[in-house]
Amino acid sequence: MKYSTQNYRIEDKAMESFIDAEEIWDFLNTAKPSEDRVREIIQKSLDKNRLSLEETAILVQTTDAGLIEEIKQGARKLKETVYGDRIVLFAPLYIGNYCTNNCQYCGFRVTNKKQQRITLSKEQIVAQVSALEDNGHKRLILVYGEHPMYTPEFIADSVRTVYSVKHGKGEIRRVNINAAPMTIEGFKTVHEAGIGTYQIFQETYHPETYAKVHLGGNKRNFENRLTSLDRAMEAGIDDVGIGALFGLYDWRYEVLALVRHVNHFEKVYNVGPHTISFPRIKNASELNIDDKYLVSDDDFTKLVAILRLAVPYTGMILTAREPVSVRNEVLRFGVSQIDGGTNIQMEGYTNKNEQNQDLEMEQFEINDTRSLAEVIDELIDTDYLPSFCTACYRLGRTGEHFMEFSVPGFIKRYCAPNAILTLAEYLEDYASAEQKQKGYAMIERKMLELAKFQKTTQLESKLERLKQGERDLYF
Ligand code: SAM
Ligand code: SF4
Repeated sequence: MKYSTQNYRIEDKAMESFIDAEEIWDFLNTAKPSEDRVREIIQKSLDKNRLSLEETAILVQTTDAGLIEEIKQGARKLKETVYGDRIVLFAPLYIGNYCTNNCQYCGFRVTNKKQQRITLSKEQIVAQVSALEDNGHKRLILVYGEHPMYTPEFIADSVRTVYSVKHGKGEIRRVNINAAPMTIEGFKTVHEAGIGTYQIFQETYHPETYAKVHLGGNKRNFENRLTSLDRAMEAGIDDVGIGALFGLYDWRYEVLALVRHVNHFEKVYNVGPHTISFPRIKNASELNIDDKYLVSDDDFTKLVAILRLAVPYTGMILTAREPVSVRNEVLRFGVSQIDGGTNIQMEGYTNKNEQNQDLEMEQFEINDTRSLAEVIDELIDTDYLPSFCTACYRLGRTGEHFMEFSVPGFIKRYCAPNAILTLAEYLEDYASAEQKQKGYAMIERKMLELAKFQKTTQLESKLERLKQGERDLYF
């Protein structure tokens, strides 16, 4: 086997670009969305099958308002019948905003001299994580610019630091990362530090557009970024997250390309990616983007529904980039994870300045600045079960979204009870009296629902132990 200087397996098929822009446009241009065909495709997904590129193209090209509504209803039904009502909560933590790349949409880009640069020291990481733990967080995603300082060893050290912080009753039980592409060796280093998911977004899968918006630095290399998740898989990181930054190129193309990426994973590794993200471009310091491809709210909700149907077993992540109204709407189409109490200003969790976001201290503007407690309140009010569960990752059950989807009874046996236990833990340690009351009312309701299918004695006993002061109980 030949290795390039950066240790990538350059002769391995899995490391070559699998994106063919012409092929994607052919699917889009030849799609004929008849009523019958659209309904057939929705049903195929409801029968728990992933959609092909051809089928996804038909949904994407559907313009009839009635059929679009049916697509959304299909996504809602899939979410309700397969995943139920749990929403997993996490928070992002920016470790460093030095960056040598020149991405035209990002406030961290190297040419933005207005951005205040900082790399958190160990003590600063501890302070941020302590503040996050004090709010009740258990799952974080650490985010890094791309810079020679942010080596795999540096990243691994920061992950270990986060896991070591135990503030009050808090601890972080799953650390995911979003960082620049690495070599297989580099990925092994961060894997050994115990990361959960490695997440990286291709931004745009359209090579020409990619070249136009990435004007400098390593990130200019489209293939290196595209194949980074393959190297992560080679290094043993089984949970990886893909994504596209919507607004750089035609959203219809990007949706198909995401599905193409999923196909690639299935073909090479026999398993899809763990999660899909679909951020839309938001305001940023020195933003320099053509507005031609910005995605409207209508198209956004449609594309989220189509993605849910196209890859029914992949976790879907929605972040505080989106305003509350959009978040509430797309939650119903199958989003499984959201962030809460997010502050992406460097050191933002200790210097909270919710009203005035300072774009010169953050990557982009967020539009949901609610506290974690407020997010949890709203989830409970709308009958979503907030979950901080990290059980699968800690028991070595990787690919949990796939198991939730494909293993009969998995959600009722593991996910729902674990959501209940982690919510109870949150209520005991962090909630106001009022929130505690409505949280336990929800738990009671959910227990009754579960009791229709299975014995809940073990869950009841774990709940009792939690109330007596034990922590970190799960199935
Ligand atoms: N430097 C790493 C990289 O580029 O992969 C870290 C990723 S960045 C900190 C996280 C993601 O935020 C990027 O991959 C991009 O999709 C997204 N992002 C960048 N600028 C944005 C903007 N103006 N609005 C919304 N999302 C943005
Ligand atoms: Fe750097 Fe990432 Fe921002 Fe690009 S998107 S400028 S690589 S932090």
